[in-house]
Amino acid sequence: MRKKNVNAMSTLELRDFDVPGAFRRIKSIRTAILDVPLMRPHRVSVSTIEKQSVVLVRIVTEDGLEGIGEGVVPGGPWWSGDTVEAIQGLVDQYLAPLLLGAEVSSIGYAIQRINSLIPGAAFAKAALEMALWDLKGKMLGLPVYELLGGAHRTKLPVTWALEADGPDVVAKEIREKLNQKIHASFKLKMGGRDPDIDVARIAAICQLIPAGVPLAVDLNGAWDEATSRRLLPALGDAGISMVEQPVPRWDVGALARLRQNASVRIMADESLLTVHDATMLGQNSAADVFTLKLAKNGGIVAVQRISAIAEAYGIACYGGTTIESSIGTAASVHAFCASSSLTAGTELFGPLLLADDLVEVPVRYANGCVHLTHGPGFGVTLDEDKVAIYTRRRG
Ligand code: MN
Repeated sequence: MRKKNVNAMSTLELRDFDVPGAFRRIKSIRTAILDVPLMRPHRVSVSTIEKQSVVLVRIVTEDGLEGIGEGVVPGGPWWSGDTVEAIQGLVDQYLAPLLLGAEVSSIGYAIQRINSLIPGAAFAKAALEMALWDLKGKMLGLPVYELLGGAHRTKLPVTWALEADGPDVVAKEIREKLNQKIHASFKLKMGGRDPDIDVARIAAICQLIPAGVPLAVDLNGAWDEATSRRLLPALGDAGISMVEQPVPRWDVGALARLRQNASVRIMADESLLTVHDATMLGQNSAADVFTLKLAKNGGIVAVQRISAIAEAYGIACYGGTTIESSIGTAASVHAFCASSSLTAGTELFGPLLLADDLVEVPVRYANGCVHLTHGPGFGVTLDEDKVAIYTRRRG
């Protein structure tokens, strides 16, 4: 058993997590970083991802039941400054010691207690919370979506994300995917080039593919308000239907002003981390669509709350990815299928971008959709051979 970290908050006692209900005492929480190869390099605005690293979290009870969770960032610190090494350190040194020896019955209550002691750390909390949900589902013999109140749907459309490459390369990949009938909509990464050249690249891509194919672009906050005001109409004219996070995460005012006049729908991703961000965006009418992600939002409980706020403001939700393996993808599918406002599709393509997976039976893709898994917990079983192969050696 791991020793309680000397810096962990002394105000929190183990019994604080014990509320009436069925659970078993947590005996161990272990983590490992796994480096999983990709099918092809994945170029985003300022970085190229060669492999995807994930933190595997394993929570085991005194009677030997195990729940698994996955901590991810989208291929390095470029998105938010978060890293898998930081996630592992937070879980090992600060989050796990709070739960060891506890009987966590209410996951929402446990997360609330942890949040009262440690703010932020969304990516690490999401990984730990995922393992708690899986464990609870396995303990009760129920899929997690049933614990969340049941599914609104059993499958979710999956958009394919293209590399930030030249028009010929991107258009060829789109046509191939359309022919294979795996994906019917696409998302293009932008922002790594001069804005005018980048828009010309997108317009050229639109010319090379069949008309009417839904295309979104993700700028990851690369433009300022003036550039966005000048170039969003050109993206709309080219045939782009939705623009994700054109301006930096802090500029909610610019998002709201751009949205008022935009011919394209505005989607908030980096600007939407917390429930308070969701309220702020809603109050300011700053987004047509919210991108939800278990990792950036801090887990399933947080995603449920943000999804409810979105519904109250009449904002549609989109199921984002942090490039999870089948573990985090299955967890995302459970959360998103249980959300009433997740009506704008998803980009849960992680397992399709990875060259290998970490579970015995990966999540299933068919006819452009990823399908809900139905076993206890998230319905996926670790492949221990794969875990051994991809585990990063310490030191
Ligand atoms: Mn995004």
